[in-house]
Amino acid sequence: MSQNYEAVIGLECHAQLLTNSKLFCSCSTKFGEPPNMNTCPVCLGLPGALPVLNRAAVAMAVKAGLGLNCMINPESQWSRKNYFYPDLPKGYQISQYDRPLCQHGHIEISVDGMRKKIGIQRIHMEEDAGKSLHEGFPDSGRNTFLDFNRSGVPLVEIVTDPDIRSST
Ligand SMILES: [Zn+2]
Repeated sequence: MSQNYEAVIGLECHAQLLTNSKLFCSCSTKFGEPPNMNTCPVCLGLPGALPVLNRAAVAMAVKAGLGLNCMINPESQWSRKNYFYPDLPKGYQISQYDRPLCQHGHIEISVDGMRKKIGIQRIHMEEDAGKSLHEGFPDSGRNTFLDFNRSGVPLVEIVTDPDIRSST
């Protein structure tokens, strides 16, 4: 049966950019802090809060693009990706859509001693959402708890072309 099909695989990989502060505010990105310690009106998406872009995050994303042989677009654009989820109460994620930072790259891997080129369609930047906690509290069975420390942590999403033909 499986010989009738060919696997065609493209990947979307999220990676955190290891900045000290978040993508659009000065809150710390330190991991393991008590819940909701690293939050402010910007990363909570409160009305009237104005995001300011983290220069270090952009520099790291450009390095990722150069490392993956991408074209670095001289202009890119932010978009709101609208959806509601409990750990994204503002109702949208700030991401990049049709004008990403990096495009048209590639990476070479070794498969059975042969070099194989995997296309990198794009690398775009985006902010992480918060985290839903479903355990660790006496009433975790009935309630979901929310931690917004991750809300606004800078990420890149690396999107490959569908150039992979096997998972092994
Ligand atoms: Zn913040």
